[in-house]
Amino acid sequence: TPALEIHGLRKTYDNGVEALKGIDLVVQPGDFYALLGPNGAGKSTTLGIISSLVNKTSGSVNIFGVDLETDRSQAMRLLGLVPQELNFNMFEKPRDILMNYAGFYGIPRAEAAVRAEKQLAAAQLSNKADMMSRTLSGGMKRRLMIARAMMTEPKLLILDEPSAGVDIEIRRGMWQTLREINAAGTTIILTTHYLEEAESLCRNLAIINHGRIVAEGPMRSMLAQL
Ligand code: ADP
Ligand code: ADP
Repeated sequence: TPALEIHGLRKTYDNGVEALKGIDLVVQPGDFYALLGPNGAGKSTTLGIISSLVNKTSGSVNIFGVDLETDRSQAMRLLGLVPQELNFNMFEKPRDILMNYAGFYGIPRAEAAVRAEKQLAAAQLSNKADMMSRTLSGGMKRRLMIARAMMTEPKLLILDEPSAGVDIEIRRGMWQTLREINAAGTTIILTTHYLEEAESLCRNLAIINHGRIVAEGPMRSMLAQL
């Protein structure tokens, strides 16, 4: 079963903008996949639909064989989302942020504590776990967003423009964390408008423009075509 299977996905916003004009996409389990394209191409809309933040106009989305339309809550349990904006409480400590998130998802406290240690380590935040989050560097804050999404141990992790507006050093730190997560078996899909980011991280990619997939395939063969 693919990690993600999208067929004929269309989205027309209320203002009449046709953001997606029929997207087909298959991402295999274990893949590290990039959705690459310029601003306004439809990347965020696609991720928004996958993560149930945006309603589709038509088409189908399956996450590990679970239909998003008929089994939304089951599909959502398989999914971790890292939003673009930092949206945790800056006056809480990283460990508490992770524990509270796990609590929200009904994960027992003892299990949550084990997961928190693991995710803090993967995000290179072990020695910052009990500091006020406000005092973390920009890179640490981005990695905390990733650690939090991983607390539910999603099979599919999606990130919307993870390095929008962050400098190259921060980006490299995030890339390292994401590579480790993928190596441990989690399928990752991210959107980016940096070819360099897709090239550095991803095995497969789709290029999206004006609401359509214009090219799709392994990174290597795609680079050869550019
Ligand atoms: P990308 O993430 O590739 O930059 P988006 O999915 O954000 O692209 O946007 C695709 C198109 O849909 C753009 O023309 C954008 O202006 C439009 N759009 C995005 N969100 C909304 C919205 N909430 N309402 C109306 N139009 C939107
Ligand atoms: P992104 O950087 O993800 O492509 P934008 O910066 O274009 O998104 O948009 C930021 C927010 O505004 C998003 O929530 C998007 O859905 C919304 N948005 C984008 N374009 C429009 C639009 N034309 N009309 C209404 N909302 C929009």
